Amino acid sequence: MSSVKDWTASVIKQAEIDKYLDGGKDFIDEEQIFADIEKYKNPDKQQVRDILQKSLDIKILTPAETATLLNVEDPELLHEMQEAALEVKKKVYDNRIVFFAPLYLSNLCVNSCKYCGFRAENKDEVRHVLTMDEVRDEVAAVIDEGHKRMIAVYGEHPKNGADYIADSISTIYSVKRTTPTGNGFNNIRRVNVNAAPMEIADMKKLWRAGIGTFQVFQETYHRGRYAELHPANTVKGNYRWRLYAMHRAMEAGVDDVAIGALFGLYDWKFDVMGLVHHAWDLEKHFGIGPHTVSFPRMQPAPGSFLSEHSPYIVSDEAMKRVVSVLRLAIPYSGLIVTARENPDLKRDLINHYGCTQTDASSKLGIGAYAKKLKQEENPDKVQFMLGDQRSLDEVIRELAHDGMITSFCTAGYRCGRTGDKIMNLLEKGVEGKFCKLNAVLTFREYLNDYASPETREIGEKLIAQELQEIENMPFFTDKKLLPTFRSYYDRIARGERDLYM
Ligand code: SAM
Ligand code: SF4
Repeated sequence: MSSVKDWTASVIKQAEIDKYLDGGKDFIDEEQIFADIEKYKNPDKQQVRDILQKSLDIKILTPAETATLLNVEDPELLHEMQEAALEVKKKVYDNRIVFFAPLYLSNLCVNSCKYCGFRAENKDEVRHVLTMDEVRDEVAAVIDEGHKRMIAVYGEHPKNGADYIADSISTIYSVKRTTPTGNGFNNIRRVNVNAAPMEIADMKKLWRAGIGTFQVFQETYHRGRYAELHPANTVKGNYRWRLYAMHRAMEAGVDDVAIGALFGLYDWKFDVMGLVHHAWDLEKHFGIGPHTVSFPRMQPAPGSFLSEHSPYIVSDEAMKRVVSVLRLAIPYSGLIVTARENPDLKRDLINHYGCTQTDASSKLGIGAYAKKLKQEENPDKVQFMLGDQRSLDEVIRELAHDGMITSFCTAGYRCGRTGDKIMNLLEKGVEGKFCKLNAVLTFREYLNDYASPETREIGEKLIAQELQEIENMPFFTDKKLLPTFRSYYDRIARGERDLYM
């Protein structure tokens, strides 16, 4: 391909968009969304309580029901919503929190999104694509923190297209590190990817390389605002190519897909509605919704005026409502809060509003893990500034103190429990039971291999409570799971690794 311009022109396959349109229209009907937000203002108490009950039965809410919840202003009802959201989380995910580490592999990008430090127009950004040797060094440093799950992140550029991404996934899986205590080895057992939307043939390459979840954020579902932020002559300027990225991923066989919107770009109620419509359209075409939903909040980005001066900046209070409504509207999906947020809000969103996954010890600079660079030390290679730079050990300790057990479980996709299979199990509360066992097994590994003495002290108490609960749960006895679980637990305590149910 002769130039980046030619490459850009070749990316979008119109036929792969058209097949999912309905009478030429996509699934975001802006007039309908605005009308729903208007129509369900000042909702009746009983109506809200009926909707909460539906969520508690782990049923996805309709857009009209979502709009009703978005319009709740009565403090008593808001409190009931928060409690219901937490109960839904307990039903599906119990007291588990899943940890992952982001790994930025390339900041080369052909696009110019106005909120991002990687945008092509930002000439101060020092560009680099990690070589596979550098990927190995980065992964080794991440594993040495105790991580077992990773999300690999890439700009959009021919130098880091699908072949590079597939190679890097294989490279990440190939790195094994002896644990600090010499008890076996640790490795990354699930590689999720956040990258630009791809055509189906490219998605298949990632599938063959062993991708976990494929994640793409729509940024904003509002077309006009989207067009203002993403220049039309860039790949990302094509709203529908992005809107159907997950449909193509599913068609390619990647059945764990993750959606999200960047909060702060547009009205937050509109974008929550967009996410719910997205979940419904995936259900409509594939019988299964998103594996996770993200609601990153825009952070200051090098050289970006918009990132600090958007008219749609979302307050902490509004973020709490975003999370409650999403937890209730798409009750089976994981909800991710990242280290973009400050430690207090992050803790609150996990403990009191239903978030189920987070990252820690995160570094966004290209090559920053191996060099142990803080973000202040390489501001010219980061995408945006993090609100929480604490170590994995510190965050695990804080949440264990709050009664949340850390899970590094990656059994699901290795046992074929992905896509609709895992969603059905989650809806019925069955997958959660396997997760409980695997959370204990992986937390046992972490406490043995990486925990500081302070974290181990809190962690041991928590694990003892979990073991007692497991022994007393009829589900495990009925399914004859206990003998295997006990034997795995003992074998891990003796030094074996990566045993899962
Ligand atoms: N380049 C790919 C894309 O845009 O889809 C994937 C990587 S991009 C680095 C991942 C996500 O970072 C984007 O989808 C966007 O939502 C988020 N992001 C960009 N700028 C941000 C900022 N200033 N604050 C918080 N998140 C940001
Ligand atoms: Fe490139 Fe993604 Fe940043 Fe946009 S958000 S400039 S596509 S890296």
